[in-house]
Amino acid sequence: MVPAKVIKKNLISIKGRIFEAAERSRRSPEAVQLVAVTKAVGTEEIRILYDLGVRDFGENRVQQALVRMESLSSLDVRWHMIGRLQTNKAKKAAGAFHLLHSLDSIRLGFALDRAAREHGCMMDTLVEVNVSGEEVKAGFDVNELESGFAELTKLKHVRLQGLMTMAPLTDNPETVRPVFRSLRELRDGLNEECGGALHHLSMGMTQDFELAVEEGATMVRIGTALFLP
Ligand SMILES: *Cc1c(COP(=O)(O)O)cnc(C)c1O
Repeated sequence: MVPAKVIKKNLISIKGRIFEAAERSRRSPEAVQLVAVTKAVGTEEIRILYDLGVRDFGENRVQQALVRMESLSSLDVRWHMIGRLQTNKAKKAAGAFHLLHSLDSIRLGFALDRAAREHGCMMDTLVEVNVSGEEVKAGFDVNELESGFAELTKLKHVRLQGLMTMAPLTDNPETVRPVFRSLRELRDGLNEECGGALHHLSMGMTQDFELAVEEGATMVRIGTALFLP
């Protein structure tokens, strides 16, 4: 288990770095939400973060998330699904998550729409875009985004709130920054077509969140940096 003292120190440091990155780009630090990614730690660490004021938690496996929701149901927490969601898990995800960051296909969109309708809820989602074009990555191809997006906006029980991407794994800012910048430009372009419904840009993890904030991230998904000794 990671000691509370360590988590507290890391959280303060991360918040400071978000603050400074926002200032550098003349953005309001309040416009950036931290999603604490807890997939690799236990419920104890979640409770520690909760006591430090964190309310947004990201998980990448539906089953693990559901177990945690159950055991922490007394806490007032917003759960984010950030990992790949298989179509056959759409039913389980509907109604359970505050936000799905990884809507990566039309097929999943249809499955979520059906599941949310049956559950009597709206599914808030971000459309995942494979900006870097790496083959192993999930998400819509940049070239298919516009037509895919048009299809997804027809779904009555799926609400599109923004875009999400993962940058290539490299510490070279010259590779990473254009990926984040492209996502912002894609969002702005889609917003012109759909009247400004897309607010969020979920981008930036431990290795690159400051660049993401500088390029307009409204949500950063951070795991490792919170729990390092
Ligand atoms: C694990 C994960 C993160 C957090 O990554 P860290 O490098 O641990 O900060 C963010 N987003 C997604 C989709 C993840 O799976």
